[in-house]
Amino acid sequence: MDIKPIRQYIEYLKLSGINNVFLSSFSAKKTPIDLESLAKIYSNCEKCTLYKGRIKFVYGEGDPQTKLMLIGEGPGADENVTGRPFVGKAGQLLTKMLKAINIKRNEVYITNVIKCRPPENRNPLPMEIKTCLPYLEEQISIIKPVIILILGRVAADALLKMNTTLTKYRENIHFYNGIKTYVTYHPSALLRNPGWKKYAWIDLQKLRDDYNNLEY
Ligand code: SF4
Repeated sequence: MDIKPIRQYIEYLKLSGINNVFLSSFSAKKTPIDLESLAKIYSNCEKCTLYKGRIKFVYGEGDPQTKLMLIGEGPGADENVTGRPFVGKAGQLLTKMLKAINIKRNEVYITNVIKCRPPENRNPLPMEIKTCLPYLEEQISIIKPVIILILGRVAADALLKMNTTLTKYRENIHFYNGIKTYVTYHPSALLRNPGWKKYAWIDLQKLRDDYNNLEY
């Protein structure tokens, strides 16, 4: 934020004989409390039937000031118990994938399209995605990432709405509401098919180059 005009205005006020200015709710930066407060407010959501299997609402976690947001499909069993995204085996792999491109997990924001665990880890239904999506849209609008990394086809379909294969999604860089968006494999898919890791590595390298070129 450029504060030069504000300084100039304060100088002008001083010259005009005004020595005190009260700023009631001025904040130059977004604060972490914004998302934490929202998570508490939404945590008892019953807008779709997935709340019935919920142990914990999994809103998301990470740095709300980040330039890089990671978006997966939905919570699994470990996430349902802990209330944190990507903490099971797939989450551990995701942390390793980030580390391989010199990105710390706590410097990004990680979340999912769906905030409650679908039974038996099934894919979320289109109506469940539609109902839950406003929470994610709001998170994106608050965080304002410069880059999004989508993990898996289900999340890609939910945001990019191309209804195509993961291979096709991976071929291009997309723009979600003007935000540069990459798509790669969901870490669960990589656990099931380790041979795909080499392709994920190609995606991650492109992301890393882009992320490293961002100006902070
Ligand atoms: S999945 Fe989303 S819309 Fe459905 S109950 Fe959970 S928070 Fe609400």
